[in-house]
Amino acid sequence: MDYQVNNNGYYGKFGGAFVPEMLYPNVKHLEANYLKIMQSASFKNEFTELLKHYVGRPSPLYFSNRLSERYQLNVYLKREDLNHTGSHKINNTIGQILMARHLGKKRIIAETGAGQHGVATATVCAREGLECIVFMGATDVARQQPNVEKMEMLGATVIPVQSGNKTLKDATNEAIRDWINHPDETHYIIGSVVGPHPYPDMVARFQSVISAEMKTQLREQTGSPLPDTIIACVGGGSNAAGAFYHYLNEPKVRLIAVEADGKGLETGQTAATIAAGSVGIIHGSMTLLMQTNDGQIIEPYSLSAGLDYPGIGPLHAHLYDAKRVEFLRATDNEALEAAFELTRFEGIIPALESAHALAALKKGTFKPNETVVINLSGRGDKDMEAYRNFMKSQKDKNLLLHKPISNPNAEVYTRGFSFPNNSQPLDLSPMGGLFVP
Ligand SMILES: *Cc1c(COP(=O)(O)O)cnc(C)c1O
Repeated sequence: MDYQVNNNGYYGKFGGAFVPEMLYPNVKHLEANYLKIMQSASFKNEFTELLKHYVGRPSPLYFSNRLSERYQLNVYLKREDLNHTGSHKINNTIGQILMARHLGKKRIIAETGAGQHGVATATVCAREGLECIVFMGATDVARQQPNVEKMEMLGATVIPVQSGNKTLKDATNEAIRDWINHPDETHYIIGSVVGPHPYPDMVARFQSVISAEMKTQLREQTGSPLPDTIIACVGGGSNAAGAFYHYLNEPKVRLIAVEADGKGLETGQTAATIAAGSVGIIHGSMTLLMQTNDGQIIEPYSLSAGLDYPGIGPLHAHLYDAKRVEFLRATDNEALEAAFELTRFEGIIPALESAHALAALKKGTFKPNETVVINLSGRGDKDMEAYRNFMKSQKDKNLLLHKPISNPNAEVYTRGFSFPNNSQPLDLSPMGGLFVP
């Protein structure tokens, strides 16, 4: 079974490019050139160098002893949280800014929800010296001030969008409107595997570095490039697409995507598109989306701004249809609990989005001791307000979140895991090998 996009821009019955006539030349030009550009030696070299020296790749694949023990599994975390700017999003914006240069574009626009994609875009624009305009719903501008300030410090212009619910969907509509008005000089950096063809395919290819590294790292650490299961959260689906990409044609590897279920499907306050959605067109592509019977988009809800999107990338709609990927849901509260569990077990504060993937450890069924890789898409600095509120509410209920969770085996763990079988113990003496230049 092949999960690549076909020549017409479709994954099965999903995808395509439904764009206004004014944008048709732009999208056609990108489609005609993106593969040739991405596969040129100069592009590949520069992309690889920047991922290494600017983003900090490869991101570590970290074996979590304590989650492993807790769930009787072998749990590995793919640490996208350690990337420059704090998530996987930079993998895509680096790729797209190079694409913009090769296309000769001088002006960059982007949409953003929580501001993570906006910051990742403003970052690469600063480095490249290109004008950057970020559309952001006015509601999000108000509740994500630190990211707005970062974008402005990076030299971007943030435009608050006043239409609709003033959130991500409205920001995307406004970005598309701007693109229609300035098609010649502008490249639109879309932040996920959504939008008209070829965006979903292009973004998935940029993010595929995640699963390419996973294969090498798993081979080094376990002897086999294939885990039993890979888990990732899904908003539009770019970190999941990257984590699954090189395993799509490995039928033995089980792939699990976790959607944000907000307050729960039955309350209607959800962002679980696969569960609550139906076929339609959103932001230029045919996919599953949350809509009323007469095609009006239903506002999604999730505490996690990065997952609060009413659609899903066409690749994922197809992977669901083809039964290649299993879709689970995690509520706000399940994600919050999972975030605290990781924090207290491993000293890693995950993004609230990534915490939805962690919650699957409780919700899925696994074979004892199977190898599970969880894509830790980002870090939790931006989510401290949500975490602080949760901590307060748990304290009132007198749950034990404020006590450390003891780890009687800490020393054993530390000795046990970090040296692959074939490596020498590190020499940490002052004149030892490790720190000698
Ligand atoms: C934006 C974001 C997501 C959701 O986007 P995808 O395209 O579904 O990956 C997930 N995790 C983090 C940390 C994000 O910033």
